[in-house]
Amino acid sequence: MKALALFSGGLDSLLAIKLTQEAGVEVEAVYFLQPFLAPAEEEKLIAHLQKLVAQLGVKLHIVRLDEEYLQILENPKHGYGKAANPCLDCHIFFFRKAGAMLDKLGASFLVTGEVVGQRPKSQNRGAFPKIDEETGLAGLIVRPLSARLLPPTIPEEKGWISLDHCPSIQGRQRKVQLELAAKYGLEYEAPAGGCLLTNVEYGRKVKDLIKTGGLTVDGLRLLRIGRHFRLSPHFKGIIGRNHRENQILFRYFYRQRNTEGLYLFKALGAPGPLTLGVGKPSADDRQNLAHLTCRYSDHPWDTPVLVKILVSGEKHHLTTISVLKKQGTLDPEQFRIT
Ligand code: SF4
Repeated sequence: MKALALFSGGLDSLLAIKLTQEAGVEVEAVYFLQPFLAPAEEEKLIAHLQKLVAQLGVKLHIVRLDEEYLQILENPKHGYGKAANPCLDCHIFFFRKAGAMLDKLGASFLVTGEVVGQRPKSQNRGAFPKIDEETGLAGLIVRPLSARLLPPTIPEEKGWISLDHCPSIQGRQRKVQLELAAKYGLEYEAPAGGCLLTNVEYGRKVKDLIKTGGLTVDGLRLLRIGRHFRLSPHFKGIIGRNHRENQILFRYFYRQRNTEGLYLFKALGAPGPLTLGVGKPSADDRQNLAHLTCRYSDHPWDTPVLVKILVSGEKHHLTTISVLKKQGTLDPEQFRIT
């Protein structure tokens, strides 16, 4: 008998795997990789996750979330949490995706580390049956950490698994989990950072993308770089805050220089940021973003500055705008997405 575990990288899902193995069931695991990490961060995270599951001799499948996931993010049936986190819809999406993997892997049911009462919306006793129903996998999702508090699942009823050895954890207390981790000698350092969608500041930028129709995987990745300004519904600017961010913005522009709708601003004649413009700017939008780019450059106040703009597209070309860097002419806060 084999099960597929949804692995979050946390202790609870490690324990759920271990408890399932203890019942004599073979386990493989799946991790759903959010689409906003930089490649180097992804690599580090995956290495960390592999190390965690290696303690249990489990094969880990990494599923990259893509445009399909963005549809959930854009319009979650059950709404958002405190930021742009559509947790309930996200859970249901993960379950469906994992459920679709069962046949191919020769697995018969899913396992998760969810605990009754741990999270108000998605992990209360009443929410589980509703979630399971909505995934189309009712009865096939086993939650070993709280199994004895929940109605028996199909795997238990059919005798595929016995959960008599499992605890009855509920609520946010971690005492039992920590005792079990010590008992099984598990290392369990959770991945750094957590889910960015729960971050309020990041969430505002995500919602700005959603509102303006710019939600893409690339767009999400860029939200972690620089200062973000909404110039108009059709145009936004991202101003690098340091050399590393300037390089990222430059590489982003360069890779996509043949695609319409990207602009790279640089104030000439003094050190300063690179600014990436995305969308369809009006003449005012361009002028305002050129001003903002100057605002963060080392040019002294009351200086006329020439701002170079690289315009992407099949005929990518260079243009310039002249602006006066003058105090009080443009307040960045009126455009900032915070
Ligand atoms: S915290 Fe993030 S990954 Fe987890 S369910 Fe919520 S939105 Fe999805």
